[in-house]
Amino acid sequence: MPNQNIIGHLINGQNVREGGRTQDVFNPATGKAEKSVLLADQHTVEAAIASAQAAFPAWRNTPPLKRARVMSNLKHLLEKHADAICQLITAEHGKVLSDAMGELQRGIENIEYASYAPELLKGEHTKNAGPSIDSWSEMQPLGVVAGITPFNFPAMVPLWMWPLAIACGNTFVLKPSERAPSSTLLIAQLALEAGLPPGVLNVVNGDKVAVDTLLNDKRVQAVSFVGSTPVAEYIYATGSAQGKRVQALGGAKNHAIVMPDADIPQAVSALMGAAYGSCGERCMAIPLLVAVGDTTADALIEGLKTEIAKMRVGPGTDSLSDMGPLVTRQHCDKVRGYVEQGVAEGARLVVDGRSIVPPSGYEDGYYLGPCLFDHVKPGMRIYQEEIFGPVLGVVRVESLQEAMDLIDAHEFGNGTCIFTRDGEAARYFTDSIQVGMVGVNVPLPVPVAYHSFGGWKRSLFGDLGAYGPDGVRFYTRRKTITQRWPSAGVREGAVFSFPSSR
Ligand code: NAD
Repeated sequence: MPNQNIIGHLINGQNVREGGRTQDVFNPATGKAEKSVLLADQHTVEAAIASAQAAFPAWRNTPPLKRARVMSNLKHLLEKHADAICQLITAEHGKVLSDAMGELQRGIENIEYASYAPELLKGEHTKNAGPSIDSWSEMQPLGVVAGITPFNFPAMVPLWMWPLAIACGNTFVLKPSERAPSSTLLIAQLALEAGLPPGVLNVVNGDKVAVDTLLNDKRVQAVSFVGSTPVAEYIYATGSAQGKRVQALGGAKNHAIVMPDADIPQAVSALMGAAYGSCGERCMAIPLLVAVGDTTADALIEGLKTEIAKMRVGPGTDSLSDMGPLVTRQHCDKVRGYVEQGVAEGARLVVDGRSIVPPSGYEDGYYLGPCLFDHVKPGMRIYQEEIFGPVLGVVRVESLQEAMDLIDAHEFGNGTCIFTRDGEAARYFTDSIQVGMVGVNVPLPVPVAYHSFGGWKRSLFGDLGAYGPDGVRFYTRRKTITQRWPSAGVREGAVFSFPSSR
């Protein structure tokens, strides 16, 4: 009987729970190493690639409607097993269960989109492009595609990738985060139950060794990556140099502008969730609030202080907790270090979450209470760098243009939003700002599954965003066929001028 506390791989439809190095997987709420995960070596990753390669010809030729039916079955299985999946997310990531449920739901919406594959793959057709000539474009799958995903959405981000890739006729090797691998693996096992043939989806757990094997293997045609910017840049450069198609989504530092005319209580309540939900460990979180005018800033600070005082921090499994722990001790220490840095840099720490006392029984968990800085300035490290924790900074400016110039000058361009009642200001903002995903009175403008997700600047390396129409484009390549059946005209003889419609 394999050890249930060892998280292995899924290769060619088989659970592999032996061999190789291992790494502890901690429960952030308790600080205890409750499981360990296998870290695949090159040989194991190559076995997964070989399995995907072998499954490709039959899967490519499986009618899109049959591929889509697997997606419909999987949707129902994920809904049936939602509680078990979310328990695994919370046990390894730390987020509260209701948040895990939200993440899973957004993931399921990508499966729903993938189940429209027959419609999405119909291509384009022109009859009589020339006399008796028909022309059409097909969207053909690429072959073996790899996905490499971060810890912070262990269910949703993999579901941005492989359901659509597979529905488009590709086969897949997924390398989840080694910090939160269990829910990802369970979902892949449920895909087999939903009718996915062995080898179409393979999961290898691991670290840089596994990633580098995927990047360097000639059989892998394309790589989808989501994670931090330094790794995204490395994946993009290395994969592209190997001739692969690569999309690499990176980090973020999202600003929310609050205008003097905004509904302040509404903005405060929206920003509380955007800043502190999931302990700030979201690439669309709002860690910076740009208040236009001191009156706006003072009102926001007062409102936020009042709301923060009501927040309960504790294990994600407690339905009374608003915010759980950070993912690892190292990350918790790093975020605490940023709070010290902000104080040293001269920002005013209005709420200090460092003194939080975890509930009894959870003293060793990685807890940090919500922190709030005022008078954050662009030169500071807490302004410039992605903290990925429950730390919100308020920047004071005099005008909308000054706020927008700050956003445009920042290296990241993932998400942003504005709170205002002024339609003209909002229109100017959405039109001009150099950011990929923009909200108006919506703090987390994460596009729905039938649009596409992607930041600008150093938040995305590559041409196409994740999921939605961009995903279909990324996971297919166009082949255009021009056809004429033999006729008297063909037999007339060779034509040496370039064909045109004239
Ligand atoms: P990470 O970059 O540390 O890890 C992401 C993946 O890359 C993991 O699978 C990991 O095993 C692998 N990896 C890590 N270091 C590597 C290396 N040196 N070489 C090769 N592979 C390596 O990211 P994380 O800490 O898991 O996730 C948090 C980050 O992800 C944040 O920066 C966040 O903004 C970003 N993120 C971005 C988006 C987006 O859509 N833009 C979404 C979610 C998270």
